[in-house]
Amino acid sequence: MDEFIPLSVPNLKGNELKYLTDAVEAEWVSTGGAYIDRYELEFADYLNVESAVACQSGTAGLHLALILSGVEADHEVIVPTLTFIAAVNPVKYLHAYPVFMDCDDSLCMDMEKLKEFCQTECDFIDNKLINNSSGRHIKAVVVVHVFGNMADMSAVMDIAEKYNLKVIEDATEALGTFYTKGRYKDRYAGTIANIGVYSFNGNKIITTGGGGMMVSTDSDIMKRAKYLSSQAKDDAVNFIHNEVGYNYRMTNLQAALGVAQLEQLERFISTKKENYSIYKSSINDDEMGGFRIFDFRDDIRSNYWFYSLYIVNPDKYPRDKIIESLAKANIQTRPLWGLIHEQRPYLHDQTYKIEKAFEFYNRIINIPCSSNLSSDDVYRVIDKIKVIHNKGVEF
Ligand SMILES: *Cc1c(COP(=O)(O)O)cnc(C)c1O
Repeated sequence: MDEFIPLSVPNLKGNELKYLTDAVEAEWVSTGGAYIDRYELEFADYLNVESAVACQSGTAGLHLALILSGVEADHEVIVPTLTFIAAVNPVKYLHAYPVFMDCDDSLCMDMEKLKEFCQTECDFIDNKLINNSSGRHIKAVVVVHVFGNMADMSAVMDIAEKYNLKVIEDATEALGTFYTKGRYKDRYAGTIANIGVYSFNGNKIITTGGGGMMVSTDSDIMKRAKYLSSQAKDDAVNFIHNEVGYNYRMTNLQAALGVAQLEQLERFISTKKENYSIYKSSINDDEMGGFRIFDFRDDIRSNYWFYSLYIVNPDKYPRDKIIESLAKANIQTRPLWGLIHEQRPYLHDQTYKIEKAFEFYNRIINIPCSSNLSSDDVYRVIDKIKVIHNKGVEF
């Protein structure tokens, strides 16, 4: 049997063990320590922002981001349906309501539909966007930069400005992606809106086992992020807390891994880009009509986190059969996430003209993309996909 090729796994061959050992030897293992400060500084430096606040997970960061955006019970938050559920669950933590938006061809939120929804389904009264069907105040939008692509930030920032909405960037999949032209040239995913959130879960482009980071264009928000994530402690000696806080800080052990991973981020992106190019040049309409590799926007430098194989004719090549055939060859792939508006906790929430998300759901498979994938591995995946393409899935 050929060796197993996983979809996306950690790559820990730099200074991880060294820094981790250092943190353990110093006996600084909890939510304080030099590596946390260092990771925050170096992370902010990489993104060209003033500061960053480390937290326990991307989900925790998104929860705080909503709180810091003023989202409260009975508010509404516009979210994508095509995403990982952690981008949406924090809306429910706050007893607010999601409104689900469709995606466009970038797999990110369809900004035309977002604009149309605000224009035709809502009223703008007293500087508040009110959803006509529910009567509730829409407070914020969560945009997700899916698979390392970039949502159309120019469009969403204009809409948000017009309707007084806060924008939260879920950049958990897009660390390292930035605009190469246009209004936000050289700005990284996560650094454009009010608040951006990153994740260092095991399958992300860099990992700390679990962990996250928050950035903001507003330094007061960053101060509050740190405060709320550290139990809202106003007096460390007498334990005075003037607000309800959270235990959401990252540990020094996680941060030690993070510092080592960040040193390698650009190299990981280069490798991912090279492997993406091999896939892209081998799986196209000339070589394998009906299969192709999805593009990233052409005005960005992507981090190439996840690669998407697009199946033009899912009747001829059913998604799950392809996944099964590849699994038999010891190659791990996966379908898109189940759409969030179809998940049980969200069945009663509002949706707006969801069409494309269904189409992509049946036609996209994520194929191996780890930063330690060799070009031989990539060719093995391509050869297998070629066999499936030529013989059909029932070979
Ligand atoms: C990974 C991910 C998250 C959550 O990050 P965690 O660190 O695992 O909590 C949120 N949103 C999206 C789109 C993700 O891919």
